[in-house]
Amino acid sequence: MKVVVICGGVGAARLLRGFVGMVPAGDLTAIANVGDDMVLHGLSISPDLDTIVYTLADAVSAERGWGLEGETWQAMEMIAAYGAVSGQPLDWFSLGDRDLGTHLFRTGALAAGATLDAVTAQIVERWSLPLTLLPVSNDPIRTMVTVAEGPDAGDEISFQEYFVGRQHSVAVSAVRFAGADAAAAGPGVLDAIDEADVIVIAPSNPAVSIDPVLAVTGIRERLTARRTNVVAVSPIIGGKALKGPADRLLVELGRESSATAVAEWYADVVGTLVIDTVDAAQVDAIEALGVRSIVTETIMSSPEITRALAETILDAGQP
Ligand code: GDP
Ligand code: CA
Repeated sequence: MKVVVICGGVGAARLLRGFVGMVPAGDLTAIANVGDDMVLHGLSISPDLDTIVYTLADAVSAERGWGLEGETWQAMEMIAAYGAVSGQPLDWFSLGDRDLGTHLFRTGALAAGATLDAVTAQIVERWSLPLTLLPVSNDPIRTMVTVAEGPDAGDEISFQEYFVGRQHSVAVSAVRFAGADAAAAGPGVLDAIDEADVIVIAPSNPAVSIDPVLAVTGIRERLTARRTNVVAVSPIIGGKALKGPADRLLVELGRESSATAVAEWYADVVGTLVIDTVDAAQVDAIEALGVRSIVTETIMSSPEITRALAETILDAGQP
């Protein structure tokens, strides 16, 4: 059975752990968001790709959920000592010493003319991961958010300035994916979707992790055409995100923070939404939107729960 998983970072990486070992390597494709990517200190950084790689390699920091376990920070201490540029400290975005090796490799390869998908394939090979990991596009896509409050209300800032620089604590009035209209789906991306038996939307942030993937030309149409086989997992459980701003963003963008609102968000592309047992009372409301709803345990706190969730998803994708 061929399986495609549309991915953000942490929520997607955790779910992919359930599919690895269950789906043969040649049949498992992850299509990842690149809207969080940025150039910092001249380095090309792809946070969601790296979170997926480090998690599947069992090398991710358990405490942080991103970056490497047992990381050291000497390069950050060094750069911090040089002070600030335009009032912004140079160490505002943490890059561990070993993690920097990944960014140096990616930056050098891109500068030498490699494409992001080829560099990513080399990284996946280095870590011996049993799946295909495709950036949704080789073209730059930059998620931008409009600040809703404070002295710079109305200004657009980059996703990382919002997420890391301001620790996603400022309210947002709009989200935009700069470059998405002109971005072509990466090599293999549309074919993987067409050939998949089941297409999964990971429990990632709908507004800033999944939407930038859907915004790439051709993807939303493909998923709509395959809607019966598209299964999403709600990242909202009991009205809250487990981590990060997904819950607040839904509200700031005019929805409510609930599994039902996630169903509404995805109604055009998703046939089935898997929701958590604590949200069982929302099944009728979700099905009234024309989205089938399946209730199960969705907090991936153990390998057993994660595998059971993955199995439920594969069943649900072939109704
Ligand atoms: P990021 O790109 O690393 O910020 O992460 P994602 O966008 O992939 O995922 C963030 C979302 O994952 C949050 O809204 C969390 O609620 C959700 N999430 C993380 N772990 C789990 C889990 O075990 N189960 C479910 N259902 N959602 C999760
Ligand atoms: Ca992300």
